[in-house]
Amino acid sequence: MTTTQRHAEVAGAGFAGLTVAIALARRGWSVRVHEQSDEVRDFGAGILIWRNAMMSLDAIGLADQIRAHATEPTYYATSLNGAEPTTELGGYPYWAITRPRLHAIMAHAARDAGVKIVTSSRAVGADPDGVLRLEDGSSYRADLVVGADGAGSLVRNSLPTFVQERKKYKDGVVRVLVPRSPEFAGAEWDSVIDYWTLEPDAMRILYVPCGPETVYMGMMAETTNERASRIPIDPVVWSERFPHLAPLIVSAEHAVGPRHDGYQTNRVAPWSTDRVVLVGDSAHAMCPALGQGASVGIVNAVALAHTLDEFDDLSEGLRTWESRERAMTDAAQARSAYMAETRTLAKGAGFTPEVMETANFVSVAISPEIEAQYPVPEVNRSW
Ligand SMILES: Cc1cc2nc3c(=O)[nH]c(=O)nc-3n(C[C@H](O)[C@H](O)[C@H](O)COP(=O)(O)OP(=O)(O)OC[C@H]3O[C@@H](n4cnc5c(N)ncnc54)[C@H](O)[C@@H]3O)c2cc1C
Repeated sequence: MTTTQRHAEVAGAGFAGLTVAIALARRGWSVRVHEQSDEVRDFGAGILIWRNAMMSLDAIGLADQIRAHATEPTYYATSLNGAEPTTELGGYPYWAITRPRLHAIMAHAARDAGVKIVTSSRAVGADPDGVLRLEDGSSYRADLVVGADGAGSLVRNSLPTFVQERKKYKDGVVRVLVPRSPEFAGAEWDSVIDYWTLEPDAMRILYVPCGPETVYMGMMAETTNERASRIPIDPVVWSERFPHLAPLIVSAEHAVGPRHDGYQTNRVAPWSTDRVVLVGDSAHAMCPALGQGASVGIVNAVALAHTLDEFDDLSEGLRTWESRERAMTDAAQARSAYMAETRTLAKGAGFTPEVMETANFVSVAISPEIEAQYPVPEVNRSW
């Protein structure tokens, strides 16, 4: 491994950008992150952190803090048309946390590791030989430019070498955080519960407890269902389908900061050219059916820093990294698109050992000691 200090310029302080920044800085790189917003924070609702991501976050020293602020759900339960929920994933290691909290933990850790985060700093493109160009006309040279600027990545779009296939799906989701009212306080509400109705069209509420006081609700509907895609949330249309969740739905109508997003996938090849690399949604946004988009981005970001450490030649490191992570990532994208299109999760028992292969993936950055702390129940293994 090279002994001279390497420098990275990162576009985007989302989960992928902060993870790669921490992972590189902890391996001796100097790192500057450019965030277009004027604040370093995530305004989103909640997020599931699967075993694959938690092991990677453990490898960069964040797992204990995340555990302290997250819920480890008892089960993943599914209820179709109001039927008694069926349960799966008992004992499987995964966590639910609010996005602002996870982001704050990451931003703090990045600064602690010496990462410089610059706000109101919008990237407009990159040059392959390692230059990040900003909207204000300035440019920064680096050993490595990282495009972690999300699904609409300008770093990616500025370089024709990156070929993107993009697909949009018919579903969309409103995500919101609401107070966990007393009706949802017992142990039976400590699971993730996936409520579906499929007639006359698909509507789903994913109930995710994020600690004793907060619930994350993902309210999915076809985008053609205008009333169910609306913000503020229409409590009538949602309560008619999910009457038992009415108190949460009423809170959701008045919650601060709900957002609606359509489902989309972008498959990009290759993930790097010369001295520019893409991580996170800029490289592989995926349907949220399995809640694996950020988790896969985190895994790949930590594996990137680990792999580059093994090579003096950066290009060789980047090629090796992609060859290690590509198959798992492609499979996760394909699987989550299939689950979204077929609505497989609605029937329950959807987390087969094959579906769990993404969450069970162990990257090169994970030591046997870390892996041993995240045992997989036999029923969730494909080995
Ligand atoms: C409904 C839904 C539910 C999901 N649930 C889960 C889940 O439970 N678990 C999971 O693992 N994943 C989940 N995901 C996926 C996850 O949200 C994304 O994969 C993840 O947020 C992507 O992170 P990112 O850092 O790559 O991109 P982003 O989150 O898009 O962050 C990009 C950052 O870059 C900044 N930026 C953008 N452009 C520029 C620019 N030009 N210059 C500088 N800065 C810029 C942005 O402001 C932002 O801060 C879900 C997605 C959806 C839609």
